This record gives sequence, structure tokens and C-alpha cells, in this order.
Amino acid sequence: MFTLKEVIFVKSIVDQKNRPKPYLPEFAFAGRSNVGKSSLINCLVNRSNFAHVSKSPGKTRTINYYQINDVFYLVDLPGYGFARVSKSEKKSWQKMIENYLIHNHYLKTVFVLIDCKVGLKKSDLELFEWLQFHLITFVIIVTKADRINRNGQSKIISELLATLRQVNRKQIIIFSAKTRQGREEILAEILRQTEDHPAAAQNN
Ligand code: GDP
Repeated sequence: MFTLKEVIFVKSIVDQKNRPKPYLPEFAFAGRSNVGKSSLINCLVNRSNFAHVSKSPGKTRTINYYQINDVFYLVDLPGYGFARVSKSEKKSWQKMIENYLIHNHYLKTVFVLIDCKVGLKKSDLELFEWLQFHLITFVIIVTKADRINRNGQSKIISELLATLRQVNRKQIIIFSAKTRQGREEILAEILRQTEDHPAAAQNN
């Protein structure tokens, strides 16, 4: 059983050299703007407005670190894939995300969020390709699942498996911040990978 004891917003960074210490296992969250990333992080840490739930796409342009129980960090990456920004701005965010992902020995898993009503877009496919190329472990979270029924959920899983051939069923979690479906699965995935960390034993 996982008990949330301490949740701290540590800092926002744009450059990897400012990463917080101590170094702990990191679990990153990525996805297109408006995919429900802030709502998911709030749900995971049982807070209503911890990560900023924003109505204006693309507000979060920093990498935000949340420290949980002195055991691991949840890392909120900037949202991608919205239309109303310049090409150069897009490029600089992409660089920020890539630099974070590639130069990080503590990164355990990237959770990539896909909105069940939007499905896969080109920017998601590019990210998956990039993660696979760099051998970075990822799990797909299908968000806002309360907006579709069980049939719809099965359908989107089949579509993901058909499009992303290297992905298996275990790498897909169906989630809703409204019903909290999938929350335990995400936490279990995180705990599975922090079990070998010395501080984890005291906190479980
Ligand atoms: P972010 O931009 O990725 O951080 O997305 P937000 O968490 O700010 O959510 C974007 C919009 O989707 C907001 O209007 C949320 O209320 C809505 N939303 C987020 N999660 C869910 C969910 O699980 N179910 C439903 N129905 N709406 C959600």
C-alpha cells in the first residue's frame, strides 16, 4: 500500500543543470497541451490545485518537479502540440524536453498522455518514435476516460496497439481524473520502480 505523506513542489527549471537535489528516481509526464496532465498530477497527489489546471493552452513552459515522500519526483514536462505558437518557440520547448529526457540517469519512466477523444496526433507519434529510438521506457496513459464507455476504451486500446506496434497492452493505462480510474495502476507502476530505493521501504 502506498501512503502519500509528503508532497512538495520543489522547483521549476528550464535547464538541466538546475535540477533539484537530492537526486531521486524521476517519473515524467508528457502530452499535448490540454490533455489533462495537471488534473492527473493533482489526482495522483490528492490535491485539487497543486499542478496548475490551466484553461489557456501552453501555459506551463517549465519543467516542474514535485517531490513525493522523499522517495521520488513527479516531473511535469511542458505541453506540446498546440497551434498558436511560433516555430522557433516550438523548437525551443522540444529542445528543453529532449535535453531533459536524454541526459537523465534518474528517469525511470515517461508517462505519455493521450486524450481519449483526440487520439494520436503527429506530435505524439514523433515523441514515441524518439523515445523508442533512445530506448527510454514509457507508459501510455489514455486520459479523460469518463468521457467514453467501456467499448470506447477497448477501441482506443486496439487503435493504439495497431498503430504503435512495439507497444504492448501492459504499457497502456486508462485514466480519468474525474472517476480516478487508473490512479492505482499508475502509482503501482511508480512504486514497482522505486522499491529498490532505500527511502522507499520506510514510506510504503
Ligand atoms: P493540461 O493542459 O494537460 O494540464 O490539462 P488540464 O489538466 O488543465 O485539463 C484540461 C481540461 O480537461 C480541463 O478543462 C479539465 O477540466 C479537463 N479534464 C482533465 N482531466 C479530465 C478528466 O479526467 N475527465 C474530464 N471529463 N475532463 C478532464
